[in-house]
Amino acid sequence: MVHTYSMNGLNVAVDGNSGGIHILDNTAYELLAQCKNDFVFESAAAPLRDKYTEADLSEAWDEINSLKTKGLLFSPELEQGVLNNAGLANGIKALCLHVAHDCNLRCEYCFAAKGNYSMANKLMPLEVAVQAVDFLLNNSGGRKNVEIDFFGGEPLLNFDVVKKTVEYGRKAGDRIGKEIHFTITTNGMLLDDDKINYINENMNNVVISLDGRKEVHDSIRYAANGWGTYDAILEQALNFVRQRGNKSYFIRGTFTARNLDFSKDILHLADLGFGEISMEPVVGAGEDFHLRKEHIPAILAEYERLAFAYITRIKEGKPFRFYHFNVNIYDGPCLYKRVAACGAGTEYFAVTPEGDLYPCHHLVGLPQFKAGDLDTGIVADFLPASFREANIFTKDECRKCWAKLFCSGGCHANSYYANGDIMRPEKSVCEMQQKRIECAIMIEAYKALFLGKEEES
Ligand code: SF4
Ligand code: SF4
Repeated sequence: MVHTYSMNGLNVAVDGNSGGIHILDNTAYELLAQCKNDFVFESAAAPLRDKYTEADLSEAWDEINSLKTKGLLFSPELEQGVLNNAGLANGIKALCLHVAHDCNLRCEYCFAAKGNYSMANKLMPLEVAVQAVDFLLNNSGGRKNVEIDFFGGEPLLNFDVVKKTVEYGRKAGDRIGKEIHFTITTNGMLLDDDKINYINENMNNVVISLDGRKEVHDSIRYAANGWGTYDAILEQALNFVRQRGNKSYFIRGTFTARNLDFSKDILHLADLGFGEISMEPVVGAGEDFHLRKEHIPAILAEYERLAFAYITRIKEGKPFRFYHFNVNIYDGPCLYKRVAACGAGTEYFAVTPEGDLYPCHHLVGLPQFKAGDLDTGIVADFLPASFREANIFTKDECRKCWAKLFCSGGCHANSYYANGDIMRPEKSVCEMQQKRIECAIMIEAYKALFLGKEEES
């Protein structure tokens, strides 16, 4: 299937099955738009004869036809066999260690029930963390590099265990010739100079949560005493990023129905000096915050506004990176990633403080998704099988979607929470994803054509 759209003066065609991207002149773009049902010059050209000369139409047709012949337009559907030959699931690659099912904040939209996932508040004991490291190393197959993300709740509430786990993991990895890359996701409240130094020396990547403008952040992310946390987190986040050299981190925000003008929050973060930013649509959340179908047009327009501002910032020499616009249109991720997404439930698992295993941090606490524990290993065999089966070949919506090779099939947890089924992506989530991909492609094309940049993403 071929998807066409115009944005910022560029006519774009994306070939969904090959991932081919083409920038077309007006004649070729309009001709192509006429080829929805068949690929015949006469029927495509007929409605355009008043507008373009025969020579222009014929030249444009040759261009389109040549792309088709090369397999870059109207290419055949990929077969699932590609997945089996694409460097498939070679053991577990990453664990999300819930070192703290507890939190010092009371964010209104928290998907983790204020940190404890609707279970008892608990910090992960060191023995469980060590067992998780061994589990990862022993089940990582032929992988040389694996990952551990310290997560919560708020992982800095259990910082001593974090440090001891890193120390243990390095030694255990060295013994068998494997390397563990550590990351941490924090709300930033407990950062201080000692922790910042440690994190900068030991964590390959860091995510700090900040929602943008002070009034937006403080209206949702507040401390147990009800006070807003913007000022405290901002001071530490700036300090942290300065010491880290502004790289290998993300400032991660969440937007809700209350700030559909979220591009202002992203630009606010960029103005503060943060160069790596992500802003995610809220998942679930209460009535006040929940994103509903009627919000989608405003959200899609907001992504476009952000894309234009993004280009303006590049021209002004003040670029920043927005996570969802980092689509590499030149090489893209490896084929396996393009096809099978995040790896939840197959090569990625979340571990609770008790040592229970779930396919993903968003699914922790749902009994039907408990895959096993660190003593038993993965015992619910159907879980990895069903997650492996949930890919762009097997999901009806994804198979037909022009964006599949850039999206990789979306978030399983989002699909589950929206439709009760990891095989059924939520339409409004897909609309947002498709718009982000349109924006990302437009930005990369604009940079290449007008700014002389083919930046790595
Ligand atoms: S900081 Fe994270 S875990 Fe804590 S309440 Fe906020 S969203 Fe929930
Ligand atoms: S999840 Fe949605 S946007 Fe992504 S490939 Fe599937 S249908 Fe397309």
